[in-house]
Amino acid sequence: MAMGFIKKILGKTEEATPSQKHSKPPQKNNKGARPNKAKSSPSKSNSKPKPTKKDPHAGWTLEQFKVEPCEGKKRFHDFDLDGRIMHAIQDLGFEFASPIQSEALPLTLAGHDLIGKAQTGTGKTAAFLITVLQKLLSTTPQERYASEPRALVLAPTRELAMQIAKDAEGLSKYTSLNVVTVVGGVDYDKQRDILQNQVVDILVATPGRLLDFLQQRTVFLDQVEMLVIDEADRMLDMGFIPDLKRIIRGTPEKSVRQTQLFSATYPYDVVALSESWTYHPKQVEIEPESVATDTVDQKFYSLQEVEKDATLVSLLSQPDMGKAIIFANRRDTSRDLADRLNKLGVKAMLLSGEVAQQKRVKTLERFKTQNKSVLVATDVAGRGIHVDGITHVFNYNLPDDPEDYVHRIGRTGRAGTSGTAITFIDEYEAYGLMDLETYLGKKIMVEPAPTKE
Ligand code: AMP
Repeated sequence: MAMGFIKKILGKTEEATPSQKHSKPPQKNNKGARPNKAKSSPSKSNSKPKPTKKDPHAGWTLEQFKVEPCEGKKRFHDFDLDGRIMHAIQDLGFEFASPIQSEALPLTLAGHDLIGKAQTGTGKTAAFLITVLQKLLSTTPQERYASEPRALVLAPTRELAMQIAKDAEGLSKYTSLNVVTVVGGVDYDKQRDILQNQVVDILVATPGRLLDFLQQRTVFLDQVEMLVIDEADRMLDMGFIPDLKRIIRGTPEKSVRQTQLFSATYPYDVVALSESWTYHPKQVEIEPESVATDTVDQKFYSLQEVEKDATLVSLLSQPDMGKAIIFANRRDTSRDLADRLNKLGVKAMLLSGEVAQQKRVKTLERFKTQNKSVLVATDVAGRGIHVDGITHVFNYNLPDDPEDYVHRIGRTGRAGTSGTAITFIDEYEAYGLMDLETYLGKKIMVEPAPTKE
């Protein structure tokens, strides 16, 4: 199996570099210095509860996952993936690869490093996870120790990290791979115990907490075969680059590991970092417009600042309103808005950086499970929201940065469904519209806000 994968890489790759790096033996550890040596044989390579009764994948064949070929679209069948991954993909209801998956998978499965320009909503998480899983299932290390992940996924926010881990669990449900999440704000001792005592296959982490564990020698990154850096631009905005540099220094050198880096935007610093962290990378780009405009009906309402609350309450009471998310530009604006909405009879939840982590997780869970629910969020908190079935996104304020606009409205109209984005434009915000028009490359039509009957 392991050889099969290497052969496949060699067969498909024109340049020698990516394949060479994956045929190198794993780096040697200084295991003697490690506090914990919870060794495990590859066949028992995790501490997940063992499936006691029947293997739920047993008996499944690819024949059972029928997707008729369709011109212009790639099926997951076209990538020669492990049956356990295909079975999970079938359960998730995916039929065709999304554009980023169609472009990225042939490259990353062949062993290339990747720089992807794509944002949430494009299916980029599955794109990088499928490659990670395929690679992990294709090779079996001789010996495994606790504290040594084989794949590391770095994300800027806890919500995003938890979502990625959830997606990884979904895609790996028919395997025995162990997915572990390390995020700040919660469960320090629990996370440390897991790292020290379990054989970790995929570690999904936010930089701060991971660096802490790295410095405590609770985790070792020198066995990382696959590194994924998600939302690199947001990492930069949030000041994580120094932490990230230290973390990445702990992984094998870039010619040995496979690195996938994703960012919605490429400011100069992200370009420079991408180049320094990847090895002869291939690049794929999914235009934001294809996400932003295709499936989201975008409306811009002109109104005065003082009219915003009443207009919002009125729109939220419309019969077609399902799950709605309201973005405001600042934490205090979000908090005050959520308070006012609750006083006006709209049950609104709040998700912002100032809300304690445990509460944020609960809020997100409630938002997901209730059919009609309203969430007020800031951009940073909102980035991690991957909730299906959001019918409306409101921009209570026009975001200062046009990229945030695209991120916000991408919370709706996900994975082929349609959604509505309503942006309030008051007397001051009208000035920001030109930047957004330039960014979107199209004229924005502003209409008067509907008045209450
Ligand atoms: P992401 O961009 O990774 O946040 O993914 C956005 C959403 O698309 C998630 O809800 C995924 O489950 C879903 N998704 C990813 N890939 C596919 C696919 N090939 N077909 C249908 N839905 C998908």
